Amino acid sequence: MRIDIITALPDLLKSPFEISILKKSIDLKIVDLHIHNLRDYSNDNYKTIDDNQFGGGAGMVMMVEPIDKCISKLKNERHYDEIIYLSPDGEKLNQKLSNKLSLLKNIIILCGHYKGVDQRVRDHLITKEISIGDYVLTGGELAAAVLCDSIIRLIPGVLGNETSALTDSFQDDLLAPPIYTRPREYKGWEVPSLLLTGNFPKIEKWREDKALEATLKKRPDLID
Ligand code: SAM
Repeated sequence: MRIDIITALPDLLKSPFEISILKKSIDLKIVDLHIHNLRDYSNDNYKTIDDNQFGGGAGMVMMVEPIDKCISKLKNERHYDEIIYLSPDGEKLNQKLSNKLSLLKNIIILCGHYKGVDQRVRDHLITKEISIGDYVLTGGELAAAVLCDSIIRLIPGVLGNETSALTDSFQDDLLAPPIYTRPREYKGWEVPSLLLTGNFPKIEKWREDKALEATLKKRPDLID
């Protein structure tokens, strides 16, 4: 999968891709990541990418031209399945959406800043708007890291068996069951004895029951 991220703050996106699973996905060439500094597409020597709002009001707005120049350049080079703008008023990110996006070949992710982008960017250049939750971040970079992590870990070959995404929460509209590791007993806190029996059909059934129990207790809305 090729991911192009357009940002005014490329440094903010460095470390998430330099360690652990995201780094591995790049090293294995499963993900081809390109981070574009929007200031390189500015029209002036000051590398301006924002301006005051028409109609007045606090906060700067990201200008349409640098964003259009960057997206148009990329679109001339290849087809993109989605051009995503991260925005608090976008479609709420969830596991189903991450699953769907993980099947795509080429995506662009645009990070907003200041008050956000000129509406004409959203009207004419963007194919999908995604929010990572009902709160407002300073910029889209951390949201882009969250979105990329949730997508990339689902691409076959990225996670090993030991961290398989298929048994994680939300994959079956259920939360994950409780998990335990050694020691069997710690300070008198014991591991459920069934998990030590090696009776895998019974253990599987126990996990299903516990997943259902946890979902009913913590997130009954998922069962609906
Ligand atoms: N004025 C915007 C509003 O009220 O909806 C908020 C702009 S926010 C300060 C700056 C940028 O951060 C946004 O353009 C967006 O790219 C990103 N951002 C902030 N919160 C986000 C969220 N919950 N999900 C995704 N992106 C977010």
